[in-house]
Amino acid sequence: MTLLEIRDLGKRFGGLDAVKDVSLDVEEGKITAVIGPNGAGKSTLFNLIHGFYRPTAGSVAFRDSDITHSSPHNTVAGGIARTFQTTNLFDDSTLMENVLAGRIVRSKSNIFDAIFHTPRHRRESRINEDKAMEVLEYCEIAPYRHDLASNVPQEVQKRTAVAMALATEPELLLLDEPAGGIPEEETADFANLIRSLPQRGVSVLLVEHKMSMIMGLADTILVLDHGQKLALGTPEEIQSNPEVIRAYLGSTTDEEN
Ligand code: ADP
Ligand code: MG
Repeated sequence: MTLLEIRDLGKRFGGLDAVKDVSLDVEEGKITAVIGPNGAGKSTLFNLIHGFYRPTAGSVAFRDSDITHSSPHNTVAGGIARTFQTTNLFDDSTLMENVLAGRIVRSKSNIFDAIFHTPRHRRESRINEDKAMEVLEYCEIAPYRHDLASNVPQEVQKRTAVAMALATEPELLLLDEPAGGIPEEETADFANLIRSLPQRGVSVLLVEHKMSMIMGLADTILVLDHGQKLALGTPEEIQSNPEVIRAYLGSTTDEEN
């Protein structure tokens, strides 16, 4: 089943086509990757899907309903979560507090409930704490839950960003270079976390520069170049595509970031 249907999507900044005529089906239960050189339009594509940018052309549908002009809040509430290329955690908050922030979108309590500690507020707080704990454990960072986000290692910060996104209970998770800055020897563990997501009911759309990671993770790969689709296929097809090798893979190493 197709979860996300991107059709002829475009975004112009002044005279520049950051994304042009991009179409892609993201299948349920799969890991779909987007690769391409710096400036290819990968982050812009994510921003368009998530409602941070308004497209100048085309459409996006999630579970057959049009979300082309949805706000980021409505997109998250509808079941699409994301992490950002530059991890944006609340540095002065603990990991638990960060992950709890992801629960806001699933909470119905209002300020009145909070001030008067209504039964609804107490019930929701308990559910939110249980859920936050579950995703912290799932991401294998529960032992750090009382540490400030600014004090934990980079890999733990990256896992926290995933946990925060999972706390919103998404059906689709957009990961923008989730392993950026993680030491090479820790990327295999991190890849395993991403690989496990579909079994949890979370389909994945992933941008990543670490080619060994992408090739071992993705079911389907979209290659972008200058905002446009250069190729679409399985890792094997992409790795042996002469145009992709010429435009991108030939000059890319895992050290490059
Ligand atoms: P990638 O994530 O593949 O490295 P981006 O999507 O960040 O690429 O950028 C694609 C192109 O769009 C780049 O040329 C970039 O400079 C431009 N761009 C991205 N965001 C903006 C913006 N808000 N305003 C103007 N140009 C932008
Ligand atoms: Mg980017």
